Amino acid sequence: MGFNTDLLHAGVIKDSKGATLPPIYQSSAFDQETAEDLAGIFGGRKMGFCYTRVANPTVSAFEERITKLEGGLASVACASGMAAISMALLNILQAGDEIISSASLYGGSIDLFRDIEAFGIKTVYVKNNDWEAIEDAFTDKTKVVFAETIGNPCLDVTDIDKLAEISHSHGVPLLMDNTTATPYLIKAIEHGADIVVNSSSKYINGSSNSISGVLTDSGHFKWTKERYPVLGEYLKFGQFAYISKLRNGLYRNVGVCLSPFNAYLNLIGVETLGLRMKQQCENAYALAKWFEDNYSGIKVNYPGLASSKWHDIAEKELTGGYGGIITIRVGSKEKAFSIMNKLKIPYILSNIGDTKTLVVHPSSTISLHSTEKELEDSGVFEDLIRISVGIEDVEDLIEDFKQAIE
Ligand SMILES: *Cc1c(COP(=O)(O)O)cnc(C)c1O
Repeated sequence: MGFNTDLLHAGVIKDSKGATLPPIYQSSAFDQETAEDLAGIFGGRKMGFCYTRVANPTVSAFEERITKLEGGLASVACASGMAAISMALLNILQAGDEIISSASLYGGSIDLFRDIEAFGIKTVYVKNNDWEAIEDAFTDKTKVVFAETIGNPCLDVTDIDKLAEISHSHGVPLLMDNTTATPYLIKAIEHGADIVVNSSSKYINGSSNSISGVLTDSGHFKWTKERYPVLGEYLKFGQFAYISKLRNGLYRNVGVCLSPFNAYLNLIGVETLGLRMKQQCENAYALAKWFEDNYSGIKVNYPGLASSKWHDIAEKELTGGYGGIITIRVGSKEKAFSIMNKLKIPYILSNIGDTKTLVVHPSSTISLHSTEKELEDSGVFEDLIRISVGIEDVEDLIEDFKQAIE
């Protein structure tokens, strides 16, 4: 099936009453016929649901749809994108281990990596796509490589094929955060990523009505007892080792489950992901081109423009567009604030991937706690505005930016 067909039909529960939407199993626990049945589910000998912190039919339907979209083996849905990233990493890490990460990351991920230092997990940052630096960063403690497909808000595009090749040559899996690109622009697993995470609060949900995250395992990585002793007894499950350890371990025990109602909202929202992304990419391209053609004093950053340092990689790797996010540098913080305040259509808030256009001044908000170095690496400047382009008529957006700038 094609991408848009999967958006509508993959992972759907055939309801016995004929409902066309997935039933919301708003139930904490699930009754079984016999004590033996419940014991069977707990013992892993029987398929079924027992408790929503572990698994839930509505949440499973959402997980199955994402698995299909990302082309993976299985997914686990979490209460937020940050929960999904935490789970994806901590499932395979222990004290003393190292993460190699692209330096141009979403601020929340940088904050998380700082938090887990207290547990003896160190992150080594390298410039994205700097192959020599990445090669040099590997030690025998390196357990995972992490990057974003399109860095938020840097808008650098990762050469996933190349990064996967280097990671695998060191016997280490590649974890990609695909939030900004979504499986509409790229199936990172086809390019060699082993695990993919999406903050489904953004484009997947689409209308910003709930926070959630999801991680998808390709099932391709060959875990070994020597390098990943934490997988322990789960190694016997072969390609299901990673997912079964997660669901029966940290995911269930930390309690980061997604609520069935939010899974339902995501299942409805994701139906239009293809249509929305198409429109958002077209709008973003038109708006970026318009800034570039009309305002020499404004520096535009968008992977779709030939002027972007990452245009070649984007061209090679992404299909169907270059994403819905643009950043512009307008000269000073005062100008940035003034333009944002004069805009009539966009909302001023720290989010991306909404149907509506959103603007934010990163250096005074989402990057407020970043160090000088982190700001530089993530391409955040005092005069920078990030625009998450919505599905409005682009002529209206252009008109609005025009009056605000002028
Ligand atoms: C928003 C975002 C996250 C975190 O997701 P939440 O759902 O807000 O927890 C992670 N990575 C990227 C790239 C994001 O944009």
